[in-house]
Amino acid sequence: MGKVGVALAAGCAVAACVVAAVMVGRTVRRRSGWRRVLRVLEELEEGCATPVGRLRQVVDAMAVEMHAGLASEGGSKLKMLLTFIHNLPTGNEKGIYYALDLGGTNFRVLRVKLGGERSSITELDVDRKPIPQHLMTSTTEELFDFIATSLKDFVEKEENVPEPSQGERRELGFTFSFPFKQISSSSGTLIKWTKGFSIEDMVGRDVSQCLQEAMSRKGLDMRVTALINDTVGTLALGHYHDEDTVAAVIIGTGTNACYLERADAIIKCQGLLTTSGSMVVNMEWGNFWSSHLPRTSYDVDLDADSPNPNDQGFEKMISGMYLGDIVRRVILRMSLESDVFGLISSKLHVPFILRTPMIAAMHEDDSPNLEEVGRILQDTLEISEVPLNVRKLVVKVCDVVTCRAARLAAAGIVGILKKIGRDGSGGITNAKSKGGGSMKMKRTVVAVEGGLYTNYTMFREYLNEAMVQILGDDVASHVIIKATEDGSGIGASLLAASHSASSSSTSSGI
Ligand code: ADP
Ligand code: MG
Repeated sequence: MGKVGVALAAGCAVAACVVAAVMVGRTVRRRSGWRRVLRVLEELEEGCATPVGRLRQVVDAMAVEMHAGLASEGGSKLKMLLTFIHNLPTGNEKGIYYALDLGGTNFRVLRVKLGGERSSITELDVDRKPIPQHLMTSTTEELFDFIATSLKDFVEKEENVPEPSQGERRELGFTFSFPFKQISSSSGTLIKWTKGFSIEDMVGRDVSQCLQEAMSRKGLDMRVTALINDTVGTLALGHYHDEDTVAAVIIGTGTNACYLERADAIIKCQGLLTTSGSMVVNMEWGNFWSSHLPRTSYDVDLDADSPNPNDQGFEKMISGMYLGDIVRRVILRMSLESDVFGLISSKLHVPFILRTPMIAAMHEDDSPNLEEVGRILQDTLEISEVPLNVRKLVVKVCDVVTCRAARLAAAGIVGILKKIGRDGSGGITNAKSKGGGSMKMKRTVVAVEGGLYTNYTMFREYLNEAMVQILGDDVASHVIIKATEDGSGIGASLLAASHSASSSSTSSGI
């Protein structure tokens, strides 16, 4: 070896030592980073834990809050709104009915033909249209003229649909998914706009009347016979298919529930006259709160950063709008506390960048290398070359957040069942006298709909599993969670039928 060779060899040895030292240092740092990240995960798991004992506390709290909300106006964070819907579709409804579903950027017009038997929708025609952006902030007349015109076009395009007979009018169920105060089953006044709508002159006005007037202006002879929100539509559709349906839950972008209550249990409205002795109550359960809910620092921060702090606490733990953002906050924290995700991606600071369908896709990635997880981390969060163990960590975070959401939703459902004495315990007022046991349990169906529940298999499985854990095998075998689809559209047309003035349909369905 010449001089150059020796120098080169020595240089290489030094370089090798440096590389080795750097690598050791990195391993040590990575290890401690890994330890810190596991600590974050552990804390998350502890904070989100929903053992069955805790779920039962949530069940009890839900039932208690329902009582309080029914006892007096403002008695609970649960508004427990009266709907004045006493009659749910029975299957006897017959004829052609319309529905209008207005709840966001799109609105839909539907026509159904009902055959006079349970589950006999013989024809269904749907037309979907976007609401032009400028109409969302224009005037009541402009918005409703547009809607009435679309309805009229829909009717005029009909083929092979007989005209209403002499003295009869077309009838319409209107699903209006904004906060409104119900006055009767077919009327109510707007409390406030949400979801980007802002038409000041409409606040306080009767929603059905606004539509009715626009239809007259456009020369369309149609009568609004039911004004509802989407949860009530889901209950109506569930009941149409299965008369044992007593409650409905929506788990989509947001979450809400409604159920059938005995009129005499609605204390805040004493002497309520009902034909059936019952009324559908819209719980607005997204606003439920209890100290038993497992709350983490991520929930506290998400709430504080939201446009409606201290509002919709239950919804913020459960619904599709928020799950992705909780996961983003956990990954951000892991990223800040360790280097397992490499340099901190600026994308991790962007609220709502990680959508709930992405959480579902990562959670349900069954490829050996978790390729979908890698792809979403790369494409959405700009975190590249994430090793397999870190991908697994991300899946685990999705699992913890989704599992808590689904189990809390299950506890909420059992809370409703408890309130109406369908949880096998005899209700919270006289649990002892009635006794429990499956012998007395009536078959009980809860209709559930919404994109989170229908599209996210793991969410559904966790929810079903928790139902059985809370209720026990015997009682749970009498409780059926049934997925419905398009309650907000079809359900409204069914209620138009069961509230029909001309009614060939009998509808004392409760
Ligand atoms: P909305 O609640 O807005 O009326 P949907 O009931 O269709 O509409 O629910 C849509 C919501 O469901 C989305 O905002 C999303 O949070 C959630 N979602 C949709 N698809 C999936 C999916 N594949 N996995 C998980 N969540 C989903
Ligand atoms: Mg919806």
